[in-house]
Amino acid sequence: MADKAFKYVILGGGVAAGYAAREFANQGVNLGELAIISKETVAPYERPALSKAYLFPEGTARLPGFHVCVGSGGERLLPEWYTEKGISLILNTEVVKADLASKTLISATGETFKYQILIIATGSTVIRLSDFGVKGADATNIFYLREIDDADKLVEAIKAKKNGKALVVGGGYIGLELSAALKINNIDVSMVYPEPWCMPRLFTADLASFYESYYANKGIKIIKGTVATGFGTNEDMEVMDVKLKDGRVMEADIVVVGVGGRPMTKLFKGQIEEEKGGIKTDGFFKTSVPDVYAVGDVATFPMKLYDEMRRVEHVDHARKSAEQAVKAIFAREQGNSIDEYDYLPYFYSRAFDLSWQFYGDNVGETVFFGDGSPTSPNHKFGSYWIKDGKVVGAFLEGGTPEENKAIAKVARVQPPALSLDLLATEGLTFACKI
Ligand code: FAD
Repeated sequence: MADKAFKYVILGGGVAAGYAAREFANQGVNLGELAIISKETVAPYERPALSKAYLFPEGTARLPGFHVCVGSGGERLLPEWYTEKGISLILNTEVVKADLASKTLISATGETFKYQILIIATGSTVIRLSDFGVKGADATNIFYLREIDDADKLVEAIKAKKNGKALVVGGGYIGLELSAALKINNIDVSMVYPEPWCMPRLFTADLASFYESYYANKGIKIIKGTVATGFGTNEDMEVMDVKLKDGRVMEADIVVVGVGGRPMTKLFKGQIEEEKGGIKTDGFFKTSVPDVYAVGDVATFPMKLYDEMRRVEHVDHARKSAEQAVKAIFAREQGNSIDEYDYLPYFYSRAFDLSWQFYGDNVGETVFFGDGSPTSPNHKFGSYWIKDGKVVGAFLEGGTPEENKAIAKVARVQPPALSLDLLATEGLTFACKI
């Protein structure tokens, strides 16, 4: 097989790859210079849709509806767009070997790709229960959700197990979004997680208390402080029940696991500098290897605002880091310079009629504000995080676009917090004044 050679190769065909491709086009990449190599079978899409409208019985999202860049209000890049721009979209192709010294990638079928400049955008993979040696974790109808094929399998199971029972393992945002989607499909849902409350890496006890009560009111059973230790199966190897560490046994026709991800860096082990589990980059997403960039979930980059190296597994950063890397590549070629990446962390989630946004850093003391009653007709409440006398993070449920902008500004400006009591009383008004 003849080698294929490109000036630029993006390895991975997810969110970062799609936004990078758009930036390449904006920068005037020439026909034939850029290739995207992806093991997925479809052009880059907005991955967050998979745990939301993709699973809904009504108003269902399907491709081509959510190809990038619609998630941020941009143009929808259909496969034809890549053809028009002369960008090779090499799908269904898993790269199994990367030799950064000879600038070569080799696929599972033995194809060889040469590049001058590489952007690593391989994202994350899910952590599996079999990684912890949980018994029976290879039974059918135990699902993970990362790529569209995973979502298709889950949709099939939801149809096949109409009015059945599901157990969701994990209380992070994937667990919360999937529990809601399953419930909307009339499945009887239980959630199990070891922590004292859901989304413990972000939510305060006050915030979590709202979401847990809201879910309970929707009929979702929440079991905390324990973990799944084994699965019982029928003669077809389909999951039938889940054994919990506390001795309980839960019936389940479907199990969905959302216990976190791991950056896909293994192809590059020993060839590139890593930090905090990701590929170390500078503020232009350049790695320790010349002509190699890393963006999105895999990059550990300098978070200028906090003067610290961080890795971020969220869609907004995937989009922005990709754009920054491509701008940096073109600026370098033209002998220009651009500003270093100056990222304000931003995460969001949506489930049922709820929608929250978080900006900044969730460190220090916290102040809850607003109406956190799960039964009140409109939910508007939030939290501020205060460190060294400054407000460094802000969370808001049910905000309008203007209110969300206001909390983003607070997190960026970091205004002083004169008194925590005053912050609690002022609530959103504090943010809207900044
Ligand atoms: P990805 O989008 O994961 O893309 C990586 C790509 O690389 C994939 O196409 C993969 O197939 C490909 N790849 C990997 N290895 C190879 C290889 N060896 N050869 C070829 N191709 C390869 N974030 C939010 O902020 N809000 C949300 O609501 C939200 N919801 C989410 C819901 C789900 C179900 C998931 C899975 C994630 C969600 N995220 C959300 C996180 C967000 O989607 C990711 O942070 C983002 O997709 C990261 O972009 P990326 O390009 O780095 O990686």
